[in-house]
Amino acid sequence: MAGSDYTLNRLLDLQGTDFEVIDCKVWDDKIVWRIVHRDGVYECPNCHAKLTSCHSKKWITLKDTPFGMKECIWEVKRAQILCTCSNNLRVEHMPFRAKHHHLTQRFVNQIEQVLCSKMFTVADVARLFKVDYGTIYKIDHDVLLRLWQSCEIPDPINIAVDEKSYRKGHNYVTIVTDCDHGKAIWVSEGNRKESLDQFFQIIGPERCKKIETVSKDLHKPYALSCQEYVPQAMEVADPFHVVKKLNECMDQCRKELAVESHIEPKKRKKIFRLNWVLRYRNENLPEKHLAGLEELAKLNEPLYLAYIHKESFYDFFDYKPSEVKQAEEFLIKWIVEAFKSQLKGLQEFAEYIKRNTGILLNIIRTQRSSAISEGINRKISTLQAMACGYKCLQYFMLKIMQRCGVLGKNWSPAPYESP
Ligand SMILES: [Zn+2]
Repeated sequence: MAGSDYTLNRLLDLQGTDFEVIDCKVWDDKIVWRIVHRDGVYECPNCHAKLTSCHSKKWITLKDTPFGMKECIWEVKRAQILCTCSNNLRVEHMPFRAKHHHLTQRFVNQIEQVLCSKMFTVADVARLFKVDYGTIYKIDHDVLLRLWQSCEIPDPINIAVDEKSYRKGHNYVTIVTDCDHGKAIWVSEGNRKESLDQFFQIIGPERCKKIETVSKDLHKPYALSCQEYVPQAMEVADPFHVVKKLNECMDQCRKELAVESHIEPKKRKKIFRLNWVLRYRNENLPEKHLAGLEELAKLNEPLYLAYIHKESFYDFFDYKPSEVKQAEEFLIKWIVEAFKSQLKGLQEFAEYIKRNTGILLNIIRTQRSSAISEGINRKISTLQAMACGYKCLQYFMLKIMQRCGVLGKNWSPAPYESP
């Protein structure tokens, strides 16, 4: 194959190495390259010493980037060497081989790039490149971890803190979002104070001082962490969580009236089925549920009134920063009305507002919307559904940072570890 050696070696990126192509066979579905070590020098993979002799040679198979529809297989005759740095036989250093897989490094780079495009799932990439799922999963995990370790956390000014459960709600992760850019910038294990402390410790006291508002659900440990690290920041309730809580309390009202009261079983069943109607905002209510609501008005007046009262709460979010006083009056009025209703669910929500009036009013002052938290929550739920619940917590956290944060956008190949 003399004459074309140079081109073929270039094609396989073997220039500058001690390896060269000696043969190439083209089949219908694959191309098989035979590659051997030029006689002479063998490099120790451990201490990078150059040895002039080897113990034995053996053929191994590596998979390379496909050529069109054809798979590319490299058959490499590699040497085993006995170096003074260890007592065991070692496989010589092959610069083109990926560290942990039977693949070439340039193939791994290509797979990483496709994974980081976020357009394909691990299963898609496995099918696309005809590589087993486990290997692609490992590559995805490794590349995300590498990028995460070198990732700079941006300077946040307005942040949101949220918890998300995994493994059927038994365990939690804490997610910090940069509200100005709508991106997740941190994720850590657990939902305790320490989980959020970690974030503040990593960004350091200087950057903590620049944080102006923290929006969060009213989870106590987070509040403690904020008091310790960012005492200057204004606490804002997250509208997303307020609405969630409101719906939960509404649901409680429904159960209260359907289960605990003394109404006929037939009516009870009907009320029980109205679960979804009650969750909709009136303006979003699909037409098919309109009849349900009218039915409710006839069936059970207290629940219908509770629904109307719940609906009126949304007006709170419409107040402008100049109308904080009016907004406060609105809340007080709402609480008084709720206590008149005699429904435990509504009263519980009223108590909740009473306890947190200040930080609820901060929603009006900052005009914080729930769009970002909602978006991120939805993305994570999709992520969980796609992967049927992640077994590996670290991978789950990295995936959150990739899908909801900036991780993986600036993909670059792993730096070559030179001797
Ligand atoms: Zn060595």
